[in-house]
Amino acid sequence: MELPKKMLPDNITIIEVGPRDGFQNVRDFIDTEDKVRIIELMQEAGVRAMEVTSFVHPKAIPQMADAREVAERIRKRFPDLRMIALVPNERGARNAFDCGVREVSYVISASEEHNLANVKRTITESLEELRRIRERVPDLAVRLDIATAFGCPYAGEVPKEKVFLLIEEAVRAGIREIVLCDTIGIAHPLQVADLVEKVQERYPQETFTMHLHNTRGQGLANIFAAMQRGIASFETSVGGLGGCPFAPGAAGNVATEDLVNLLDYMKIGHGIRQEEFLKAVACVKERVHANLTGNMLRACRYEHI
Ligand code: ZN
Repeated sequence: MELPKKMLPDNITIIEVGPRDGFQNVRDFIDTEDKVRIIELMQEAGVRAMEVTSFVHPKAIPQMADAREVAERIRKRFPDLRMIALVPNERGARNAFDCGVREVSYVISASEEHNLANVKRTITESLEELRRIRERVPDLAVRLDIATAFGCPYAGEVPKEKVFLLIEEAVRAGIREIVLCDTIGIAHPLQVADLVEKVQERYPQETFTMHLHNTRGQGLANIFAAMQRGIASFETSVGGLGGCPFAPGAAGNVATEDLVNLLDYMKIGHGIRQEEFLKAVACVKERVHANLTGNMLRACRYEHI
């Protein structure tokens, strides 16, 4: 059956964030071997872009204490993988660079309240640190994650102007990719469509990626709304792992396997082989003590579909 899909991109880039956004919210330490194994399985299934770890202080997030080892091992094994790490400051950026990481995510919240809770800095201070990273580690590509772009657990509604302001600063700092994050899964499709339309119109030179949590089950609908407005890059997480330690009630991301399933049904390209990816999901289920929220591990599969 041929359905009209004129308005949708032909190909989607899926950026897997489970090993960072997912693992950092798991309390029991996941063995480095297991982390690497899960990353390996996803890479074998066709994942080409991945946030593999976070160079935060191990006291802040003990789960990420092996960031250096994970990054070094993955760099060596999969030189072609687009490997991304999260860094909270210049020190993290330098450490990441030393381990062979060439692309990092840096997070600033659109709401002052969440930024203070999440990174213990004002937005102004976060922007100063961003400029320092750009200046002092100039060969490191930086993407800006704008957290709470659609709503804040402390401040409630977040005016679009606050998002625009951060994008303007990012453009000034030479950043080419902006990640709009619905940290608490509060966005709805019309809101996503509206913000996406406006930012693309205002900043046509930027690439926009969406990071939409699925707290209220609206994740895939929000992704579809963004796709209809031409967004072709999405961050999702194996098994739907994820959350935010400083956003009460934040739950998992859209599960990568659920997005893969949706795109397969709609015949939109993405490069991941579902059967193989589900092996990674099964491995997470076996080795990571966390509640998996993705649907595809449970869904009944029929021979002819
Ligand atoms: Zn997230």
